[in-house]
Amino acid sequence: MTHVVVLTPEHYNYGSMLIAGALRDLGHSVELRKGFDGVDTEIVFISLQSTIHLVKYRDIINNMGGFRVVGGPVSIDPGMVFRYLDVDLVIRGEGEDKVGDVMELAAGRCEPDDVPGAAFRTSDGISMNESSPCPMKRVLPLIPCDISREDIRGASVYIETHRGCPGNCTFCQVPEFFGRKVRSRPLEDIIREVRQLKASGARRFAISGGTGTLYGSSKFRGIDEDSFRDLLRGISEVTGARNLTVPDIRVDMISEDVLEAISKYTNGWVFYGVESGSQRMLRKMKKGITPDQVVEAVELARRYNLRVAGSFIVGYPGEGEEEYQETLEIADELMLDDYFVSIAEPLPGTELGEEVKNLSDDENPVFMRSSNRRFESVAEERAFNFLLESYVFRSVPVPVTSRLLKSIRDEARKQQEHIRTVTRMLQGKL
Ligand code: SF4
Repeated sequence: MTHVVVLTPEHYNYGSMLIAGALRDLGHSVELRKGFDGVDTEIVFISLQSTIHLVKYRDIINNMGGFRVVGGPVSIDPGMVFRYLDVDLVIRGEGEDKVGDVMELAAGRCEPDDVPGAAFRTSDGISMNESSPCPMKRVLPLIPCDISREDIRGASVYIETHRGCPGNCTFCQVPEFFGRKVRSRPLEDIIREVRQLKASGARRFAISGGTGTLYGSSKFRGIDEDSFRDLLRGISEVTGARNLTVPDIRVDMISEDVLEAISKYTNGWVFYGVESGSQRMLRKMKKGITPDQVVEAVELARRYNLRVAGSFIVGYPGEGEEEYQETLEIADELMLDDYFVSIAEPLPGTELGEEVKNLSDDENPVFMRSSNRRFESVAEERAFNFLLESYVFRSVPVPVTSRLLKSIRDEARKQQEHIRTVTRMLQGKL
C-alpha cells in the first residue's frame, strides 16, 4: 500500500478532501494535512488555492522531496506554476478522477502523456494534456478529524453542490475552471456527505459552487426552483437551518420561491455579487446585471425577512472617480446588513488577468498614485474609504473606534500589497 500525503497550506478546502477521498478509495494510505510541517513522503498532492501561494510557499515546496503534484485553482495556468515551483506535475482543472493515473505515473508504470489533464516539463518547455470534467457522481471526501476547528469565513466546510456557471464575469475563474454549463451532483450524494461531515464534527455549512441558486439548473442562465428548494431542505434537515448558509448569489438568478426557501432553510442571509454601482463598470466586468436589478433584488430579499450582504469591487482598471462615486452611492442607498469590499484581483485565466498583463502602472489603480499621501495608490484609498463608509451606512451603523479604523487601514493596505504582488506575477516581473 502506497502512503500519500494530500497537503493544503491553510484550510482543508473541499477539493483537497475530495482528492484524498479518491486516493483512499483506490486503496492507498492517505494522510490529509494542513500546513507543511514535517511532511516526509514519497508522493504528495499539493492543493494551492491562491496565486500568491506560488511565491509564499515556493521555498518550502521546492525543498520538499518525493513526487510532487500540484492542483487546485492555480492549475489554471500551469506555465505560471512551473515558473515558481519545481514540481513534477500539475493537474489542470478537475482532478479527482485522475489521481489513479497520477499514482501509476509516480510508480513509473506509465508516462506523463498518459495522464489526462497533466501538465509537465519537457526538454522543449511545458506539455499539456487535454483535461476533462469529472463525473458528478463521486466518492465521499476524506474528512480530517479536526474539521470541527475549521473556520473558513465562518463555515466549517463549503459543500460543492454543482460545478460551472453560465456567467461571464471578467474577474472570475469559475467558468474557465469548471465550464459554463451547470453540472449538479445527485442530491442523495450531497446529503450523505453532509451527514458524514456532521458526524465528524463539522458544524457550520456553506454551499459553494459559484452561484448557489444554480443547483439543478438545466437551462442556460435559468434556475430550477424545485431542485434548489429540495437541496436546502435536505441539507438543513441534517445541519439545522441556522447552520446553513448560501453565499454568492447573482441578483438576476433569484425568484420569490428561491428567497422563500433561503428564508426557511438557512440562517437567513443572502450574499449578492453587486460589484459596482456603475453601469459602465458592470458592462466592462461583463457582469450582465444592472444597478436597478440590484436594488430590486435587495428589496425582494427584505420582503422575505432576509439579511442582505453585498460584495463590491473597487480599483478595477478603468474605474474613474465618477464610477467609484456611483458605487458608493448605491452601497449607501441599499443600507445592507454587511459589506465585502475588495480591490479587483487579477486571477490567472480570466479576462482581467489578461488585461493587467499589459496595463501600464499609470493606468492600473493599484499602482496609480493617490493625491492623498496617506495612501500609496488610488485603489488603496478607494478600498479604505469604502470600508470606512460601509460601517456608517449599513442597516445598523457600527461606531468607528480607533481600533476599527486601524483594522480598516490594515485591510486596505494588505489588499493592495496582495494585488500588487499578483499583478507582478502575472506580468512575469516577480
Ligand atoms: S462571479 Fe459568479 S456569476 Fe460571475 S462567472 Fe463567477 S460564479 Fe458566475
